[in-house]
Amino acid sequence: MKLIVALCLTFILFCPVYGEESKVRYDLALSQIDKAISSSPEEVEELIDNLLTSWDGLTQQQQFRLIVYQAIQKSYAGEYQSSKELLLSVENYDLSDELLTDIYQYQSANLLGLRQYSEAFQLMDSYLKKIKVGDDLDTKAGAYVRLANLALNLDANEELREYSERALLYTKEGNSRLRCFSLILSSYADLNEFKYLEAEKGFARSKAYCENKEFPLFGFVSGKGLAEIAIKMDDFQRAEVQLNEILAGYIKYGYKAEIISVHALLAKTSLRLKKYSQAEEYANKVMGLSDEPSNVGYKAIAAKVLSQRYLESKQYKLAHDYLESHQHYSNLVLDDTKAKANAYQMAKFKHQEQAREIALLNQERQLVEAQKELDRSDKTNDVMIMTMLAGSVIFLSLFLLYSHRQKQRYRKLALTDRLTGVYNRGAGQDFAENEFVQVSLRKAHFSVVVLDLDLFKNINDSFGHATGDWVLKHVVSVIKPLIRDSDIFTRMGGEEFALFLPYSCEKTALKIAERCKDAIEAIDTKYSGHVFNISASFGVSSNDREDLSLDPVLKRADIALYASKHSGRNRVTLYSPELELQSKSDETQRSLVFN
Ligand code: GH3
Ligand code: MG
Ligand code: MG
Repeated sequence: MKLIVALCLTFILFCPVYGEESKVRYDLALSQIDKAISSSPEEVEELIDNLLTSWDGLTQQQQFRLIVYQAIQKSYAGEYQSSKELLLSVENYDLSDELLTDIYQYQSANLLGLRQYSEAFQLMDSYLKKIKVGDDLDTKAGAYVRLANLALNLDANEELREYSERALLYTKEGNSRLRCFSLILSSYADLNEFKYLEAEKGFARSKAYCENKEFPLFGFVSGKGLAEIAIKMDDFQRAEVQLNEILAGYIKYGYKAEIISVHALLAKTSLRLKKYSQAEEYANKVMGLSDEPSNVGYKAIAAKVLSQRYLESKQYKLAHDYLESHQHYSNLVLDDTKAKANAYQMAKFKHQEQAREIALLNQERQLVEAQKELDRSDKTNDVMIMTMLAGSVIFLSLFLLYSHRQKQRYRKLALTDRLTGVYNRGAGQDFAENEFVQVSLRKAHFSVVVLDLDLFKNINDSFGHATGDWVLKHVVSVIKPLIRDSDIFTRMGGEEFALFLPYSCEKTALKIAERCKDAIEAIDTKYSGHVFNISASFGVSSNDREDLSLDPVLKRADIALYASKHSGRNRVTLYSPELELQSKSDETQRSLVFN
């Protein structure tokens, strides 16, 4: 869903850039194309055909410009492959900065249209490298706005945040158009990070700003952001008002792709407001579209609406059919999301590889230069040998240091849990074991807090696995600020976590556990789309003199956790030997019952 909304933004945000007076003058026909490119395809086609007949009379720059326009026209028409090839055919020539910018912008739309995400990340990287320290503010702001938009399309949230913030930073007061884009993009960064309140404020601000500066279309884009948030917050009444307003606007401007997206959102909203026939009408409009990739996300929404609508009217066969169709389209969306995630991982990896290679090359070059310098100088052989030896030692140590850092970076990737970002069990326990040895040598305290979410299975069963995952991530994010950097936060498996606390005594560990318990209880679940309670049970234990390894401490914390579960959950229990007797007798009783 997010993907397709964003793809539409590429065209909406950028098409009217053409025609700005600050640009270099082209000849009359070209500037006519320039003006018409986003509004009247037939006119553009005719103008391009005309110019193509007098191809030989054009200067080289004009020829390039014409090819770029042809490519843009094809990109608008959805002929991404031929547009891509046209742009590739000119990109290596000596082009003006402006033409290059156009090429980046439309090539990124083509790559997104073709779902070639790895290439899109490469393009992002090379665009980024073109931004120079000496560029003026407008150029920089424009570049970062485009980069942020590409990041939005690629689900690259970290990059979206960074580029949109830079765009805002570089946008001068006078450049209201870029400021308007930047405000919208940074609101999307908040939305994608689930910061709904910030996003709502951001969209309200961009809406007011863009409307005030007479960019009504971007006012609608912001309005849609507000409607999306209203839907996320279950405020369907407000969403409906907003969506109707936007729809009227988009119809006025004839933005087909966005009209479709608003229809899909209106179908969903109407269903939740129990306006069934209206929901059906909007959903059918969406289902009537072709299966091209940009429609798939909307069709997934519409099919679900129709399935629920028919379930409501007890037309079970239809409800079933639409549910299957929903499944089908959702799978396509999921495949796309996965493709982006893979491309993202690859891009990051490749980037690090490149950085490593560049660093090595630089080191080699430095060494070669140092050697040349030595040759030139008139020093004695002894001095020369000594210096070279020293140089090699420095080189070797730098190299070792660098590879060590690099190795650590990769290790970190392999050692963390993908969902929550904390250490996985193997890594966390390894680190903790090492720390434990250090702490024991110094005869200091070491505590372990284990926690297990209460009745977590019920959350999955009632609201789905995605909500379960939301909970896991949020639990981690509320605990993180409560512990020190030197503490080892580990996901032990499923919904069980451990905090290994070197140099913390029992009392401190208990305090931390209590704070974590309160923070988990205070998580506001409404942003997950459902309202329910979260709690966790805790077990705490600290080392004593007889402990030769971490194992017994962890075991005792587990026994305490077990006691928390047994005495009603949502509590913290400190290990004491009596608990062990209690749990043994429980086990005996259990085995008596079962044998
Ligand atoms: P208790 O209070 O006794 O701990 O009850 P519980 O329901 O939390 O415990 P149980 O062990 O029965 O269920 C744990 C559930 O956690 C079962 C499993 O499907 C779910 N789970 C494990 N890993 C994940 C995950 O990564 N994401 C989600 N959403 N669920 C997970
Ligand atoms: Mg549990
Ligand atoms: Mg468990």
